[in-house]
Amino acid sequence: MNRPAAEKEKDFHHPYEPYDIQKKFMNALYECIEDGKVGIFESPTGTGKSLSLICGSLTWLRDHKRRTFDEVLAAVTVDGSEPEWMLEHERKEKKQALLSQRADFESRLAKIRAKEKMIRERFEKGEPQYKRQKMTTDQNGEDDADEARFVLDDYESEGDTFVKSRVRTSADSGLSMETQLLMEELGLPTRQISAEGEEEIFDEMKIFYCSRTHSQLTQFANELRRVKMPPAIAPDPLNRKNSDTDVEVDLEEEFKHLTLGSRKNLCINPKVNKLGSATAINERCLELQQPGTSVDCKCSYLPTKQTEAVVNNFRDHALSRIQDIEDLGKLGRKLGICPYYASRSAIRPCEIVTLPYPLLLQKSAREALELSLKGHVIIIDEAHNLMDAIAGIHSISVSLAQLQRSRAQLGVYLQKFRNKLKGKNRVYVTQTVRLLDSLTGYLQSKNANSKDAEGLVQIGDLMAGKGVDQINLFKLARYLQDSKLARKVDGYIIHTEQEQVKLPRSSGGNSTVSLNRPKEGAPVLTHIQSFLLALMNPSAEGRFFYSKDEGGIVLKYMLLDPTFHFKEVVEEARAVILAGGTMSPMSDYEQHLFPYLDPSCITTVSCGHVIPPSNLVAMPVIRGLSGTEFDFTFEKRNSESMIQDLGNAILTFIQHIPDGVVVFFPSYPYLDTCLAAWKRLNHSAKPISLWDNINAIKPIFLEQRGQPKPSSSAINSIGNLATASSSVVDSVLTAYSAAITTGNGRGALLLAVIGGTLSEGINFSDSLGRGVIVVGLPFPNLHAAEWKAKMQYITSKATRGGKDGKATARDFYENACMRAVNQCIGRAIRHRGDYAAILMVDRRYGSQRIQAKLPDWIRGSLRNDASLREVVSGLNDFFETKKQ
Ligand code: SF4
Repeated sequence: MNRPAAEKEKDFHHPYEPYDIQKKFMNALYECIEDGKVGIFESPTGTGKSLSLICGSLTWLRDHKRRTFDEVLAAVTVDGSEPEWMLEHERKEKKQALLSQRADFESRLAKIRAKEKMIRERFEKGEPQYKRQKMTTDQNGEDDADEARFVLDDYESEGDTFVKSRVRTSADSGLSMETQLLMEELGLPTRQISAEGEEEIFDEMKIFYCSRTHSQLTQFANELRRVKMPPAIAPDPLNRKNSDTDVEVDLEEEFKHLTLGSRKNLCINPKVNKLGSATAINERCLELQQPGTSVDCKCSYLPTKQTEAVVNNFRDHALSRIQDIEDLGKLGRKLGICPYYASRSAIRPCEIVTLPYPLLLQKSAREALELSLKGHVIIIDEAHNLMDAIAGIHSISVSLAQLQRSRAQLGVYLQKFRNKLKGKNRVYVTQTVRLLDSLTGYLQSKNANSKDAEGLVQIGDLMAGKGVDQINLFKLARYLQDSKLARKVDGYIIHTEQEQVKLPRSSGGNSTVSLNRPKEGAPVLTHIQSFLLALMNPSAEGRFFYSKDEGGIVLKYMLLDPTFHFKEVVEEARAVILAGGTMSPMSDYEQHLFPYLDPSCITTVSCGHVIPPSNLVAMPVIRGLSGTEFDFTFEKRNSESMIQDLGNAILTFIQHIPDGVVVFFPSYPYLDTCLAAWKRLNHSAKPISLWDNINAIKPIFLEQRGQPKPSSSAINSIGNLATASSSVVDSVLTAYSAAITTGNGRGALLLAVIGGTLSEGINFSDSLGRGVIVVGLPFPNLHAAEWKAKMQYITSKATRGGKDGKATARDFYENACMRAVNQCIGRAIRHRGDYAAILMVDRRYGSQRIQAKLPDWIRGSLRNDASLREVVSGLNDFFETKKQ
């Protein structure tokens, strides 16, 4: 697309003077959205990626609104016989109508902002706050003890289609159908008026910004607060004063932002949110909405026709300023309305919606939120693991223990209600029992007879039980959903347990009812129900597996190819942007996520770092001190002499790298093997162990395995101990940073694992990471059933497409490994003045093919020195120049 030269110097309203790489990023992003493409954007940590995403996309959004506004006015026509001034008059009228519509909305939000400011100031002065809306405390939603409520309702539907979800009906917009269609076509907001005719609701062109966690979305909201932009449509110069307030309309327009969350994030009913798990909260909330639930038990926060005004009030407050998920929860509590449901009212007039991965990537979640992506812009941040995230969201597993528990619960239920089950209920409950027995029988026999820890499962084997091959899974799944069997069974089990507690011990209550129901979990049958959906629709891109470990045997469905699930998003959206600090190697996305797109529809942008190349030195370390090659392949990695060489090499490096050094190992078991050897083996020239030797140079800290990743505040605090809150900072990271800052210049050594708890989301800036050492290449285990199936799938798909299947699969395999490596080595540089050395220990890092998979900014600082001595001299030179 040809653009005027002047546009290259576009003002992106960046709050600071942007670096050249930021300008490049924002320009490319703007064009990608304008041209309606898929974009893959890489910008290393510390380069202001979030601000570039915000400024580039929202500048486009406001420009787009401005252009479409002009186009709508230009499309106004009058009868050909009318004079020119009539046309002008019509346009003027139209313009004023649209402007006043917007001005009213803005004015409402401005009033809310002013009121909140006043309340804040009063609070700061110590004046009493306004009374909060009374919260209903009686929200226990407990059903009464009548057992009749556990009986299934009659079920007669035999049709083959699901009941369609409620379709939003548009209220009368007050515009002619022709104008409405034209405005929609041009992407201009259409207006809705509520039933009372009081509230106007715009449906704005939107940016959907998606990241993995709410803490990342909160960080994004903080960045968004820094950006100010002029209004999309400048107010009429003659009409700049607001009629209500007599205040001039601001020349900056606040962003209309909303963050979406799940019920688990937003439920304010204490009796429901205490259930803990997302499934349990969802189930309970839906259960309380069932017809027939007594008024006392219903959730009083659920929006109703009578509380429409409160919902609108929630919407205006939510949009009046940039708020994170916790703010929305507080707002819901303050107004006494459920923020999960009330948020939906704010989606239409919103400009930027932020939401975590699962809400965007799962069609059912989008439908539940009534979220349409049609024609909007999607930005997915931290997208380096997007393909895995899609696969994870659409994969599901069920354990033998869950199947058995589920079957036992159903047995107890049938003991009581068998005679009350009639017609289709009897048929489908029997089918459910048979299916559970069939799945259970399969896993029991695998558990007893198979020596393999895991293996591929054929769907026919799962359905081999008596009469199971006759079951129409589609109809059964619909029955389970419509009949709420899982909830009825679960409700009855809880009821029975409660009744048993009331019985004296001597009365010998039915011991079989102790079914180990997790106290605050979801009905186990619900989980089985989800697995059934995979059984019902085992697309060609997925496989079933079993796997055994100490916890028992598990049946899994795994999605091998994310293409089709993500295609729906791509086809609906105007443009899709995948952004990340390290997206390299990028070819994977083109080949395995967008194989159906013409390459001309994909833009890839890899930005350099903000540091000059002289602030980084990256070196492969091919040989140890003894001259033997480092080869950490699975077959050779346990060589004791090589492990000793590795210890000696690390001991040498840390004497030439100041402050903190982080070493990443390929796996926890290999880290354990190395540690055990270093404690046993001596340094070649000294009578003390390698471990003690290393520890004497820099105190050693070990990553805590299996711990949840540190919270965002902990992560932030690592770079800024002065503001750290010790309660949230991971103890190892705190101790490591403390050792560096207070250790008389010795620094510290942190031993971690690639893909472990410290390899993502933590920035080892400045003295926390003057050196990052990566040991070996963390290739996935090709002998694992899942990887075997994945490689087979890729090979045959590529071969069918006329490509070299084996080479494609090998490339994919290497890319999965290098993406994990790139994540680790991208942790060291955080800002323009930062500097670090990156050492990659393995002969394979010397190969062109592997080096080509490193990010551009690292390749630009790569030195290929032959011996360890040369690496050491490279380190000395590098840190010497940094001292000056
Ligand atoms: S309506 Fe809202 S507050 Fe009530 S139970 Fe459901 S999620 Fe919780």
